[in-house]
Amino acid sequence: MSLLPQPPEFRPLGKSGIAVSPIAWGMWRLAEDGRTVAEAAKLVHAALDAGINFLDTADIYGFNGSGGFGDAEALLGEVLIAEPALRERMVLATKGGILPPLPYDQSADYLRKAIEDSLVRLKTDVIDLWQVHRPDILAHPHETARVLDDAVASGKVRTLGVSNFTTHQIAALNHFLGEKLVTTQPEISALRIDCFENGELDQAMMLGLTPMAWSPLGGGCLAAPESARDIAVAEALDVVAQAQGVSRTVAAYSWLMAHPAGVIPIIGSQKAERIAEGAQALKVQWTRQDWYAVLVAARGERLP
Ligand code: NAP
Repeated sequence: MSLLPQPPEFRPLGKSGIAVSPIAWGMWRLAEDGRTVAEAAKLVHAALDAGINFLDTADIYGFNGSGGFGDAEALLGEVLIAEPALRERMVLATKGGILPPLPYDQSADYLRKAIEDSLVRLKTDVIDLWQVHRPDILAHPHETARVLDDAVASGKVRTLGVSNFTTHQIAALNHFLGEKLVTTQPEISALRIDCFENGELDQAMMLGLTPMAWSPLGGGCLAAPESARDIAVAEALDVVAQAQGVSRTVAAYSWLMAHPAGVIPIIGSQKAERIAEGAQALKVQWTRQDWYAVLVAARGERLP
């Protein structure tokens, strides 16, 4: 049985010359649990020391319904102030465009300010990847594109991406950006398989976008599955995990990485040993049969 190709040690971020690890670490929950700067630094080190150089945050991470907007970025900024040399070791991605409690805002004035504020909180001169977090239906993509173009031209942002956009929204913004998008960040996991068949990953391959997978464990569900479907998916992952001596969660990341679009799972754990363990996903090998067995378990029915 032939094996699917394994990910390279580094991938280009879209068509940019920036090299990122094929698995990323996300900081959605970094500012929770009263985490100190030293504790946050330990997690950053865990990722970088394991060869994970792609770090994902957002301006809204830390927002708890009433306050905390910007807290995850600010905590990372404190880590970078304490250890400036860390900045050069990472490809730093953040996002904006969600205005708490919920409206989305991609008007020119708001986005310009959101990018400036992220730079200040992150204590950095440049954001390597700036992503629109969720689409603002009321913003014309031409207007959004102009601000993003300016951010790149002024050197504040190196590359651009989107998250939670439909394929048509991606096409429209990319058009007005003169094809400058390099990433798309939808939810993808063995429990959330829409992307494989709704055209999102096909579009990413067509446009040369790197797909980043948020919640690659289904928000942790794959680690402790409860429903019959989730248990069936976990069992299909366990077949490969046990054969190759890795944990189920590592198998779950590697299952996403086996897709030809070069999907980059974003590890969500805020535990150093689990972040480091994620790097083992580069070594896991998949046959077509094993890969499709997970998909079939997730579909809940056989393939036609
Ligand atoms: P996930 O990997 O699906 O879930 C991570 C959660 O699972 C953590 O709470 C973690 O807890 C828990 N977990 C339990 N057992 C685990 C194990 N053995 N290994 C690893 N984790 C385990 O990812 P996620 O946190 O939902 O999302 C990952 C990243 O995606 C975020 O940090 C963010 O960067 C990005 N994201 C983006 C969007 C968007 O709209 N663009 C939305 C959501 C997330 P512990 O911390 O205790 O390990």
